Order: sequence, then structure tokens, then C-alpha cells
Amino acid sequence: MNSETNSKQALIGLNQTKLERICSHLKEPSFRAEQLFTWLYKSHVNSFHEMRNFPNELRQRFGEQYCIHPLELIRVTGSTAEPTRKFLFGLQTGEKIESVLMKDGDRTTLCVSSQVGCAVDCKFCATASMGFQKNLSVGEIVDQFLQVSKESPSAITNIVFMGMGEPFLNYDRVIAAADLLNNENGIKFGAQRITISTVGIVPKIIRYAEEKHRYKLAVSLNGSSQESRLKTMPIAKKYPLPELMNAINSYTLNSRHPVTFEYVLIEGITDSVADAEKLIKLLSGRRCKVNVIPYNEIGGDYRRPTKEVIETFVAVLNNAPFPVTIRWSKGTDISAGCGQLAVLEKTA
Ligand code: SAH
Repeated sequence: MNSETNSKQALIGLNQTKLERICSHLKEPSFRAEQLFTWLYKSHVNSFHEMRNFPNELRQRFGEQYCIHPLELIRVTGSTAEPTRKFLFGLQTGEKIESVLMKDGDRTTLCVSSQVGCAVDCKFCATASMGFQKNLSVGEIVDQFLQVSKESPSAITNIVFMGMGEPFLNYDRVIAAADLLNNENGIKFGAQRITISTVGIVPKIIRYAEEKHRYKLAVSLNGSSQESRLKTMPIAKKYPLPELMNAINSYTLNSRHPVTFEYVLIEGITDSVADAEKLIKLLSGRRCKVNVIPYNEIGGDYRRPTKEVIETFVAVLNNAPFPVTIRWSKGTDISAGCGQLAVLEKTA
């Protein structure tokens, strides 16, 4: 992307109504908007030249005023042969974000960012060190999918909002992006294959439940009690555990799907047998799954527990009435594991 295209409005991210507005601005009939939608989200074109059912002069007019992609792919870390690859993108405004592509058996999962940096300040997470810079636009979220798809040898089967940022602090755009990914006239990505993970922004969980979205919901619990969450997650002060659990109840009442609780295992902080027992007590009777994430070290004070401690913790949890899985983050060698995303460099 050169500096000329940088100043142009990107079309990726616009829905049918917004594309219609652009067509009417260009004095074009509204069926053009439908064609445009198809080219952008179904045919995944990279240039206006590829829009074959557009007259030449119209392709040119589009090219003068608009560009297609809001993101520029700067660097890919990891080769196609590796199970995990990290994608560094530049925004038109100069900031940088990362997406992670993970291959595991039949599943190819894309982890997308929703913000540049993060305001939540969880003590164990690398993204927190960037501070909060800005919310991503709908296009900047959707374009992560479109651009990584082109680089992925296998079709992406799952999308998780677990990259940089707190999705529910950029609620409207995250939902609009998921809706665009899911739109049946375009990308048509199944709602149940999209997961939104939140740190526990209570009013937004309630709103999400009321709006009855069909995307899967994950909540980063990371502690078995209010006291334990407070050790590493200052947000627990604003949204205490009982309120969080009530909000999640309203989700499970409204949704056919269970909520997934993520639980990061940190040595000496969240990894005791007593923690595992408290967790069972807290979650029993709820429609949920638990995803245990052994801590990925980021050069700070926190450590991953030993394999024995992790196994003991999981063995206790295996007595629980809900399913438990372990997420052994892949790509920790290229800092692509959960909580390791941070773009601290100023220039590429
Ligand atoms: N802000 C959202 C989305 C981030 S998802 C949320 O909090 O849910 C990233 C997941 O990785 C979260 O469950 C988070 O708790 C976890 N995580 C953060 N830092 C980590 C680290 N260093 N090692 C392992 N997991 C981490």
C-alpha cells in the first residue's frame, strides 16, 4: 500500500447499505452495490480491475476515490509448514496489529485482534504493556480474515476474537464485523464457528444476551473467587464475580449454547488443588465448558506451573460435571501464544 492509497477510504468493512450510499454518491444504480458486495466478500478481489462486470471508466473512478483493503500485510512469522503463523498488519493510520493462524488436525483457527493495545491491564498479559491505542474498525477486523485466508493453505474453519484487545470494549464494531463475516451473501462464515472472548464486561454480556447473538461466548475467568481474580485482573473490582456470574446466567438462559470459561494456570496464583475445587463449586450446575490455559511466559514475574502441577489441577477438574479441555498454546516460540501479542516496535 503506498501513501496515495493510504488516504483513500477502504471498502472492506462496509455493509450493503453503506456500499449503496457510495454507489449513489458515484451516481451509480443500487444493483452496483450488490455486485460490489459480491466482489469484496465472495470473490475476495484485490483490485478494482478484477471487477469484470463494471465498465472500465467506473473501475477507474472507484480506484481514484477508494481502496479495497484497510490493512497492509507487513510480515508473516513462521512458514506454511508450521502449525502456527503470526501476521503483522499496518493500519492506514500507522498503528500495527497481529493475527495468529493455528492449524490443528482438521481445524484451522484464526485469532483476530479487536483493538490496538488494550485498556484492561490484566497483569499477566503482554498486550497490556502496549496500553490502549484505539478501537479497530469493522473493516480492520474483517480484513484480518480476508488477508490471512489468502495466505492459509487450508480453509479457515474457526475464528476467535482472542487477539489483542477486549472485544466487548469495542462492542458495536466487533458485532458488526462478526455479522459481516457471517453474512450469507458474502463470506458466510458459520456463527457457531465464531467465538468472542471477553474479560467479563458485565453490561456488555447482558446486552449480548438480550440481543441473542449466535456467536459463541467465552469468558476469561482466571480465578476461582473474587479474591483470586483481583490478584491479576483489576477489572474484577469494577465487575465483581457475583455480578459477572449473574450476567453469564442471562446469556445461558437466552442461548442454546454453553459458555466457555478460560482459566489461565499461573504458578502459585491460580494453580492449587484448592483453586480447582473452588472452581468446581463455582461452576457446577451451569451449562459451561472450561478451557485451562497453561500460562505462556512473557518475561515478567509470572511462571507456568510444572507439568505435574498442571496435570494434578486438571485431574481434580476431571471430577467436575462440566467438560474440561487444556489449551497448550502453539507458537509460543514466535510469541504467538495466548496473551503474548504485543507490537512494541515503532516502525516495521
Ligand atoms: N480480552 C479478551 C480477549 C483476549 S483472549 C479476554 O480477556 O478474554 C486471550 C486469552 O488468553 C484470555 O483468556 C486471557 O486470559 C489469556 N491470556 C492472557 N495472557 C496470557 C498468557 N500470558 N498466557 C496464557 N494465557 C493468557
